[in-house]
Amino acid sequence: MVPPARPRKLAKVPFVELADGRLQGVVSSGSDIERVYVSSVAAGTYAFACSTNNNRPCGGARGGFCNHILALVREAVLQYGAERVARYLRVEIVDAEPSEQTIASTMMSARPPQADSAAAASVFSRFLRHLAYLELAPTTLPVPEMQWFPPSRAVA
Ligand SMILES: [Zn+2]
Repeated sequence: MVPPARPRKLAKVPFVELADGRLQGVVSSGSDIERVYVSSVAAGTYAFACSTNNNRPCGGARGGFCNHILALVREAVLQYGAERVARYLRVEIVDAEPSEQTIASTMMSARPPQADSAAAASVFSRFLRHLAYLELAPTTLPVPEMQWFPPSRAVA
């Protein structure tokens, strides 16, 4: 992770990255603090996916980008700058500067397909590592940020 181009609100979007050929990350639910959404958009095709940490499909992402994906675009622009986000996702913007709005609207006007949710597990495990290794001091005590993960599930 590089330092953000501009300050981000980590509570809303705790994790965003350009990796694995996708813009991907984790977005907090607006209504339920125990729920997060794992969202992604693929470079080139803009194929999108959004599901909860419990692997339920996001109701807002049927047929188009949901608010979580739009929040991810917004945070990615803050984190990486609009030019870099547009270049990574291969969004060609004509007659305008790359921005959160032009990047999102250009991708949406391409009528992107819905991706399968296979990416979600890998995004979530990257989020876990991000929390564990980059933000939290080593500890053997319970970590509240980890409560999304059922204790029985092994994470590679
Ligand atoms: Zn969503």
